Amino acid sequence: TQPDPAAGAAVKAADRAHVFHSWSAQGLIDPLPIAGAEGSYMWDYEGNRYLDFSSQLVNTNIGHQHPKVVAAIQEQAGKLCTLAPGFAVDVRSEAARLIAERTPGDLDKIFFTNGGAEAVENAVRMARLHTGRSKVLSTYRSYHGATAAAINLTGDPRRWASDTASAGVVHFWGPFLYRSPFHAENEHQECERALRHLEDTIAFEGPQSIAAIILETIPGTAGIMVPPPGYLAGVREICDRYGIVFILDEVMAGFGRTGRWFAADHFDVTPDLMTFAKGVNSGYVPLGGVAISAEIAATFDKRPYPGGLTYSGHPLACASAVATINAMAEERIVENAAEIGEKIIGPALQDIAERHPSVGEVRGMGVFWALELVRNRETHEPLVPYNASGADNAPMAEFAAACKERGLWPFVNMNRTHVVPPCTVTETEAKEGLAALDEALTAADAHTV
Ligand code: PLP
Repeated sequence: TQPDPAAGAAVKAADRAHVFHSWSAQGLIDPLPIAGAEGSYMWDYEGNRYLDFSSQLVNTNIGHQHPKVVAAIQEQAGKLCTLAPGFAVDVRSEAARLIAERTPGDLDKIFFTNGGAEAVENAVRMARLHTGRSKVLSTYRSYHGATAAAINLTGDPRRWASDTASAGVVHFWGPFLYRSPFHAENEHQECERALRHLEDTIAFEGPQSIAAIILETIPGTAGIMVPPPGYLAGVREICDRYGIVFILDEVMAGFGRTGRWFAADHFDVTPDLMTFAKGVNSGYVPLGGVAISAEIAATFDKRPYPGGLTYSGHPLACASAVATINAMAEERIVENAAEIGEKIIGPALQDIAERHPSVGEVRGMGVFWALELVRNRETHEPLVPYNASGADNAPMAEFAAACKERGLWPFVNMNRTHVVPPCTVTETEAKEGLAALDEALTAADAHTV
């Protein structure tokens, strides 16, 4: 497509006239008008093409405009666009089957939502009704969505404005060796101390009052901290001992991102409830859901489940999930994510870390990696303070701008950049993006001491 700056300006003006954006001071934002996207790339109206190392909001696991998914949506639109959740619909049943076949253990019933936050809301509701208890525990370093319960469960600063109505939510510290809340010196210690801390939290909150513990299997937005060996199994054991429902939030980590269908597959752990969204259909049509264990599903065999959504199991969304999951299986897209991570991204990031003093730690797997950027490698002082904005955040803003100048669209959160391209990313694309990242990190190095 030819550059058309005038068209881009018109798109931006129309946006600024009436669109109210998420998480933003409306008068301070400058949204980039996008003309199109395909595979791992998107482009603007000025003739700039960007390799998307953020997969939008870490959701386009299958890349943009996958022809099989586009065709499935078109075909479903021609057949049946919408139907109330109470009916039985072929594509909804098929999507549920394909998901249930892949979720661990006996998580064989699927409740569909429009996205991740609603999945978390419903998982929490199911846990509370199943146990008759009210409290839910989550970690400080977490993101679970922006609706009522989901934002309270979230640990990051986006929660603060909504903390006025956080009844029943208790935060604790999950394991994170690089910034160990437990002053641990190795992964084994970190795991042991994190589990003891969780047990202490439960004891002081009252085990009989706790309905659920919710964890991201690998925390995503908060920093892609792969849990130490034994941690998730330890949490599972604690939940079993106290009759607490174990919820794994796989909204970001699920559907291929870690190089397996679910991150839980790496740890051989089965939760009681598992939330998903994003990668289930790469967000081509909004979709999320909860995978439910046989025991919790049975709670609602005779007793009505008091929850629902007009668009639960929307036919267009389900058709796109069916096509996405089938294409991922046929084209070995999950395997591609694992291979690219192991052979290309992981080694390249280790090499980058050696050459850039601003890189404090590299962690991740599959197409799910974080670089912890620091001012000082010895002290681990973050490149920018926690929740920095304005001038305090300048080093990260300069780094992000340096990426974009090189045709790379980065994922940036606080003092981190995440390397989270689509699961379909090719070796050539990954190398192109890593080379741009390598150069852009010089901007971060300039702020090290
Ligand atoms: N849970 C996790 C782990 C997420 O990463 C997100 C979104 O980033 C959500 C829940 C919320 O999903 P949504 O934005 O679709 O409501």
